[in-house]
Amino acid sequence: MKNGRFICKVVLFTAVLALLLSLAAIASADGNGCTSINHIGPIYIASRQDPTCTVDGWQIKKCQNCGETIATEPIIAQGHRIGEVSNVITPATCTTKGQKQVLSKCSVCSYVESSRMEDINPLGHDYPDTWTITKQPTCEGSGTKQRVCRRNSTHVETETIDPLGHLWGAGVTTPATCIAPATTTRICQRDSSHKDITTSGSPDTANGHVWGDWKVSKKPTCTTPGQETRVCKLSSAHTQTRDTSIEPDAHVWDNGTYIVKPTTTSGGEIKYVCELNSNHTKTVKVGPLARGGNNTICAFGPRLRDTNLYPYNTDDWYMFTPFDASQNGVQTFELIASNKYIVGTVTLTIQDGSLKVDYTLKDPGNFKINLEFFTVLNRINDLTDYEPENLMHLAMNKGQFINLQEKFGDDTNLVLYFCSRCNFTYSNKISEMNYESTTHQRLLQNMLALMD
Ligand SMILES: [Zn+2]
Ligand SMILES: [Zn+2]
Ligand SMILES: [Zn+2]
Ligand SMILES: [Zn+2]
Ligand SMILES: [Zn+2]
Ligand SMILES: [Zn+2]
Repeated sequence: MKNGRFICKVVLFTAVLALLLSLAAIASADGNGCTSINHIGPIYIASRQDPTCTVDGWQIKKCQNCGETIATEPIIAQGHRIGEVSNVITPATCTTKGQKQVLSKCSVCSYVESSRMEDINPLGHDYPDTWTITKQPTCEGSGTKQRVCRRNSTHVETETIDPLGHLWGAGVTTPATCIAPATTTRICQRDSSHKDITTSGSPDTANGHVWGDWKVSKKPTCTTPGQETRVCKLSSAHTQTRDTSIEPDAHVWDNGTYIVKPTTTSGGEIKYVCELNSNHTKTVKVGPLARGGNNTICAFGPRLRDTNLYPYNTDDWYMFTPFDASQNGVQTFELIASNKYIVGTVTLTIQDGSLKVDYTLKDPGNFKINLEFFTVLNRINDLTDYEPENLMHLAMNKGQFINLQEKFGDDTNLVLYFCSRCNFTYSNKISEMNYESTTHQRLLQNMLALMD
């Protein structure tokens, strides 16, 4: 109905317009060249009413040449251009919803077609990727770390850091002892107070003892060995016992008594009794008393007859004693009587360039010194004679220091010539000399090496 009436209006309007135009054309056909149907123009829009979204507009066109209105045209309304626009009413936070008003609104005329309220989803926290460690973890203890929301510094996220675990170094193994198995200890490289100790195997009861010193647990007798015992330091229940060797002749002999007394022409016999067991006895034969009782005693060394160092030919067994006087100290040599018996000891004491000669006899009660003679020389060759009776002008005194520097200068390779006369009888304290023994042979070699 509305549309029909609108069309009737247009038709009527057009008819009236056409009539007017034709009348005008007729009226002015001969004035300025325009006719009612043919205007010279140009044609222009003389006035205009823009349409709104819902109301049509119009425009009137005129001829510039004649000024007549040629047409009045409608401009059709295009309708609203609706789009959605939202306004935040309550902003969302990290954790709470916000609200917004959503408008369906014409972008041209701001006509609001509809409006509704809508939720805004929570934003969620905005945490950085990196954490701040607030408590360092240890081998066995947890640590903590935190990070702070960039939207709101009161939002703090805290997380636990797992314990690091120990960082074990190489194991050090202690061997098994008699009471404990082997242990392997590892030390944590993060904290040396952390130790990991594992045991393996069983105690080494055969070899793992820590023995103390051997101690005499039973004294030897002359026929039975003694015993030594040692105790394990880890367990006193562990002991070991061993026999101590017994000497080939372990008896402790008494001073002996003559069964047969020796004379200058026949030998004698001495009986000895063991002090540990009187059933143990031995009998020793001794030779006749030599040289009518006036015997020679020399200190051990090369024999005059065995060397070509002494300038005079002699067959005498008398000995001389090379020694080294360069060092402070005490040197001892055996005293040999009759080229056969060890009867005493001569002692050389060297002290800061001085020398003292002393001697002791093993059995002084059975000795009588008839002539005491000893002296010290650079070289044995310096002797003009070897019988002590002829050398008394060279004699030194027992126990008295002489200055070596004064006498011999820097020469420290010296010779002792000890040659005395005595009477003695045999006793168990006097033993027979064994020149062939390794000890004596070696000593002789050393002495000969000192000869210059
Ligand atoms: Zn015109
Ligand atoms: Zn509009
Ligand atoms: Zn937050
Ligand atoms: Zn650790
Ligand atoms: Zn043990
Ligand atoms: Zn015995």
